[in-house]
Amino acid sequence: MKIVERHVIIFSIAIFIVATGLFIYLPFISVKKRITITIDIEELCRVDVGVEENRWQYIVLHHSATDEGNAESFDRYHREERKWSHGLAYHFVIGNGNGSDNGEIEVGNRWKKQIHGAHTANMDLNQISIGICLVGNFEEDNKPTASQVKSLISLASYFSKRYNIPKSHIVKHSQVLQKGTACPGKNFPYRQFINKITPLHPL
Ligand SMILES: [Zn+2]
Repeated sequence: MKIVERHVIIFSIAIFIVATGLFIYLPFISVKKRITITIDIEELCRVDVGVEENRWQYIVLHHSATDEGNAESFDRYHREERKWSHGLAYHFVIGNGNGSDNGEIEVGNRWKKQIHGAHTANMDLNQISIGICLVGNFEEDNKPTASQVKSLISLASYFSKRYNIPKSHIVKHSQVLQKGTACPGKNFPYRQFINKITPLHPL
């Protein structure tokens, strides 16, 4: 057998082995992806205590104004520095990959126990609004990651449908009348986000 022919045969066998390997491995890659992106929001938000049917009327959006963090670190800060006995001011925290997974939704104790938030200076609003904080400082150069926005859309859409919260009641912290706050920052893509919410009542 000529040397050239032998090389062609060896090359063909190599291609066959690589192709077979890819054929076997590829389905596992797609299955893994599918599992990763599926979040059961309803299951995540389920609580053991009773939920008053008309309690939650607003959703208020925040950023942490930090580059990193998670529900546990903010909880510690709010207990130790702010002296809030219920700890973490928000009901939910959505991670950016620095402190928790990118797009991970962490459920705070205030949601689990169905108690008021401490995320705005307006206590009346805190009683009836769900506080959601995205990790990051969107007033500086950063903006939320695509995974954070995706998780936020899922969470806000779920609450909007579950509690009949209209789009006009899904607001940025800066829209709440109080002494000026830029929260959740000028780079927070509010329009892009709110357009993807499909509540029962659009106004
Ligand atoms: Zn805020």
